Amino acid sequence: MERIQANRLDRGFFKYQNEFEEKALHVLRSGWYVLGNEVKMFEEEYAAYVGAKYCVGVGNGLDALWMAFRVLGIGKGDEVLVQGNTYIASVMGITMNGATPIFIEPNQYFNIDTTKLEEKITEKTKAILVVHLYGQASKMDDIAALCKKHNLRLVEDCAQSHGATYQDQVTGTFGDIGCFSFYPSKNIGAFGDGGAIVTNDEQIAADMRVLRNYGSEKRYYNKIIGTNSRLDEIQAGLLRIRLAHADELMQEKQTIAARYLEEIHNPLIGLPQIQKGATHIYHQFVIRCERRDELQQYLDQKEIGTIIHYPIPPHMAEGYQYLGHHEGDFPITECCAREVLSIPMYNGMTDEEQTRVIEALNAFGQKQEDIS
Ligand SMILES: *Cc1c(COP(=O)(O)O)cnc(C)c1O
Repeated sequence: MERIQANRLDRGFFKYQNEFEEKALHVLRSGWYVLGNEVKMFEEEYAAYVGAKYCVGVGNGLDALWMAFRVLGIGKGDEVLVQGNTYIASVMGITMNGATPIFIEPNQYFNIDTTKLEEKITEKTKAILVVHLYGQASKMDDIAALCKKHNLRLVEDCAQSHGATYQDQVTGTFGDIGCFSFYPSKNIGAFGDGGAIVTNDEQIAADMRVLRNYGSEKRYYNKIIGTNSRLDEIQAGLLRIRLAHADELMQEKQTIAARYLEEIHNPLIGLPQIQKGATHIYHQFVIRCERRDELQQYLDQKEIGTIIHYPIPPHMAEGYQYLGHHEGDFPITECCAREVLSIPMYNGMTDEEQTRVIEALNAFGQKQEDIS
């Protein structure tokens, strides 16, 4: 029996193989490889896709995040509120500028618990970084209202939420800057690293363009000390193809998710819940189980791959010990880290593969299984 992997990036390639190959050849033959027409076109198309005025392509999602805070002037001495159960890059985006992350516990949707934000706001608080984790939009009406009330900047980490909406508005457009990653496994993925920011603010877009290219607007005239974080032409060209198929790719994952939600019945397993007003694009389909490690081993024996997103929350990461947090400081975050498991979910997943995953999950912990 062929193993079902947690993710299959090759399936996503073969779905549109001819288009990808044609575009790659086109760029190779064009003689222009960095910041050219493909990037310009992708930026325009991506801005239109999310409904923002501007999009600026950068090297990867982490760059999008730290450059966002840099452009907003948030750094040493400043605090940024962020959920505790996120990927480490969200936190690095904050700390790379010298700012301090203030962790907030998540709600049952794995997103930031908006009822716990206000109590953490101090005179040092400069921004909220919202992470639409696993692909589900956060409760943006609460968050936007809070930012307005306390005059805070709002940055969205949309690395997992391309096209997900809250009250019909696309994530990335609620605040000052939306940050995207196009890492190959993301819902809109490149064939290498890639990222972008979106914004409605002309100045922010202009500052980002200068920052990504050594701080120069005009070649060899450097206004600020910038960085090198540019989206290259091949990635932008290939991303344009992904973007052209974005709706059908999203629909396919949502159809698989609907089947999982309908057919997985096991009292030992908790299924994802959807916040009212939010959509979920299922970057990951994350289940919960108190016997998570046992479940993961069991699935592995049945030739089903899974991943834990994420086993160590950022406040417990070795690199962040200087923040002074300890085990037990964020019990809900830590409980997520113990219980979550991402099951196979990818474009091009066959019905048979889905059936095998469903049947294995439904049989976990049942008596017949214990005997066999
Ligand atoms: C992937 C990811 C990032 C970082 O993106 P890269 O392109 O890998 O740098 C940031 N935040 C979240 C939530 C992510 O999932």
